[in-house]
Amino acid sequence: MSDFSNEPVEETLAEGEIPFEAAAARLTIDLGAIVSNWKTMRALSGRARTAAVVKADGYGLGIEDVGEALYGAGAADFFVAVPEEGATLRRFAPDARIFVLSGMWPGTEEVFFENDLVPVLASSEQLSFFFAAVAEFGDYPCALQIDTGFNRLGLTVEEALALAGDVSRPASFEPVLILSHLACGDDPASPMNKAQLEWFRIAASAFEGVETSLSASAGIFLGSDYHFDLTRPGIALYGGDSQAGTSKRLRPAATAEARIVQIREARAGTTVSYGATCKLGRDSRLAIAASGYADGYHRSLSGSGVPLRDAVSAGGYGSVAGYKVPIAGRITMDMTVYDVTDVPEGAIRVGDYIELIGPNLPLDEAAAAAGTIGYELLTALGLRYRRRYIQPD
Ligand SMILES: *Cc1c(COP(=O)(O)O)cnc(C)c1O
Repeated sequence: MSDFSNEPVEETLAEGEIPFEAAAARLTIDLGAIVSNWKTMRALSGRARTAAVVKADGYGLGIEDVGEALYGAGAADFFVAVPEEGATLRRFAPDARIFVLSGMWPGTEEVFFENDLVPVLASSEQLSFFFAAVAEFGDYPCALQIDTGFNRLGLTVEEALALAGDVSRPASFEPVLILSHLACGDDPASPMNKAQLEWFRIAASAFEGVETSLSASAGIFLGSDYHFDLTRPGIALYGGDSQAGTSKRLRPAATAEARIVQIREARAGTTVSYGATCKLGRDSRLAIAASGYADGYHRSLSGSGVPLRDAVSAGGYGSVAGYKVPIAGRITMDMTVYDVTDVPEGAIRVGDYIELIGPNLPLDEAAAAAGTIGYELLTALGLRYRRRYIQPD
């Protein structure tokens, strides 16, 4: 038997594609971590079944690969935002139940029916349209969203109770799921949680025997009262905080890196980047890395020269060779400058990669410096990264 282990792995490159080892910006997505996080959330969900929320292209990490990995690991219920996402997911999760959170309206029904997608009906208007659309189609499943205090989507509790008691509704109408969404699940001390829980119990009790679902990632951490029949984790699957600190129990799923294309010596007293807002207090070494705000590396992460620096004192960091290196001056469209003066000479070279988010630079820490949340950083990552997926074991 021959041993091929020393042979370089041949990557098949698409036309115009740069190898992962040479890409300007690159993104490693650990599908094993996503599966492991789903299993962690499943364990925390107790007796409830655990769905997977893969809207917004799997929180920016790729609905096709993420959906396929979770389906392979046993996830049987998925939530997407819009029917197009459901149609994409259907190819990778043939027997799953796929719920579409924004509901159904004229012009979308074909995509629902053709891909066996379950609309989460969010208003009496949508209900009327659904009844008319399925009249000729026959029995078709739907879910009902009930608003218990978010004022976003859903029937009011009164509307839900009226619907449950309405004898004129089509006889075949039987929702497969009743759901609601918490406004303050990230704050266990908020009285909103208990109030929404009580309203949800009242609404759900009018639909006896129908499955119930209240909690996204944060709600799962609120404990078993909040789990009902089905939980709906999203951000937790991707390793992000839903309640402060909860990501410590999860594995980071995405590592974004940018290549150092130049290292330059700069004299004390000179300035860095647009607006000359960063004046160097010492002779410095600067690493220029090939990603910027066009890669979702938000300009608000800049070390200086953006209004946020008055409110959130520290700017963003990168991580390289075990050192946290501050962003110097303003982030530009395609480039970011890091102050690497404190990294020993020889520890970094042109061609090395600076980690933007990942195991050494938690998503939520980067998000805080940008004045935002991990959800927004992930979903903003953009298409310019060269992507590599690590398959689950
Ligand atoms: C986005 C969303 C989720 C998932 O939320 P996370 O905080 O990412 O876990 C669950 N339910 C609804 C209705 C949502 O809109």
